[in-house]
Amino acid sequence: MKTRPFRTLALASIGAFALACSPVRPGGSPASPVPARTGAWEDLYEDVRLDGLEDRRFDQERFWRVVRPVVEGSNRFSVEVVGQSSEGRPLRVISFGRGPTSVLLWSQMHGDESTATMALADIYSLVEEESGNRMVRSILGGLTVHTIPMLNPDGAQRFQRRNAQGIDINRDARALATPEARVLKSVRDRVEPLVGFNLHDQGVGTRVGLTDRGAAISLLSPPFDHSRAVNDVRLRAMEIMGVMIRTIEPMVGNHITRYSDTFNPRAFGDLITQWGTSTILVESGGWEGDPQKQYLRKVNFVGLMAALESIASGSYQGVGTDAYQALPANGRRIGDLLITGGTVVIPDIPSYRADLLVNYEKPLLEEEGTFADIGDLAEVEARDTLVLDGLYIHPRDRALERTEDGIQLKVGAQAYFTVSRRVDGRDPLWVFRGTPPEELRRRR
Ligand SMILES: [Zn+2]
Repeated sequence: MKTRPFRTLALASIGAFALACSPVRPGGSPASPVPARTGAWEDLYEDVRLDGLEDRRFDQERFWRVVRPVVEGSNRFSVEVVGQSSEGRPLRVISFGRGPTSVLLWSQMHGDESTATMALADIYSLVEEESGNRMVRSILGGLTVHTIPMLNPDGAQRFQRRNAQGIDINRDARALATPEARVLKSVRDRVEPLVGFNLHDQGVGTRVGLTDRGAAISLLSPPFDHSRAVNDVRLRAMEIMGVMIRTIEPMVGNHITRYSDTFNPRAFGDLITQWGTSTILVESGGWEGDPQKQYLRKVNFVGLMAALESIASGSYQGVGTDAYQALPANGRRIGDLLITGGTVVIPDIPSYRADLLVNYEKPLLEEEGTFADIGDLAEVEARDTLVLDGLYIHPRDRALERTEDGIQLKVGAQAYFTVSRRVDGRDPLWVFRGTPPEELRRRR
């Protein structure tokens, strides 16, 4: 067995990690002296959580089947079809509350980022079931909350980032070439929200700063230009995030980061800030033992409800920007699976020792792995390591490129191979299609 350079780091982080993963509410982590304040929202959650979205990969039809009985026909909601996707799926705005302050939340403009969409479903259920609750009443009386759940239903249909035109909607805020971007822009211009929530998921391999911890939730007040200056619009977003941080810290401890604030003139968060709406980017990352992001769904629910309550009551004012500014930046993004110690066997060339790095298109499901690197990868970090000392890796046909010049194993090829005890491929142990066998796996 090889000892990897990060082993000591991994060991040092186990204490904080175990605490953060505890199923009972830990009541604050060592890095967060602020006492637990998730209280009420977390207590309400289990009663209002909607069934039917346990698998984070769902299409618009399924989402609507779950949400429709809650929002349609209820006088607490208005449901409006404001346009359609390029494949003709309806784009709905679901609104609640009758207050003077307008707030807009939009989720899943990247079709494979469904965590906040699930949380929005739970928020509708809360509004319907708990309209007598003091905090909910305050929100309904102070705010008109507009939501666009699943802005990219065509992408969600395929569980892919981009829309059916092949465009990344979050790089279309300037050109407005996609119907989905035009809908978001027109709704924003119509309801002129004081605060906007841009709800996403980020890579599960993202680290907290320079540490070995995974980033569970990443927040950002997007800049409105290259200077990254802070004006009143951004100050408001930062103070509201201060409330969110304080509220979710007991749930995710020191696994909260600040997203990169490089200005992007094509991105919605940046331009909506420029248009005068205090915009908050929420990126749900990874949480150990939560492949379907059901825990992060709850964290989203709690954080968003705390934010809405503070906007309705004005309690965010004066919170200051310290909590936000103190967040560690998003750190490096590590690979998904490092395969070490094996010998690669390809027809027609001599076999050779090489480590292999695999990144998954669907990392939480360990599906659709491709080779990201091949060679001496001793310093490369990955969430998982597969140790194949003394074993032989026989890439399967689909992992190999055949041309008239010969056969090659290439970066970008599908990670699909047989592991055997012998160089000739006899005595195979198992076939790798994505999920490594537990006994050979070393988790960070
Ligand atoms: Zn995204």
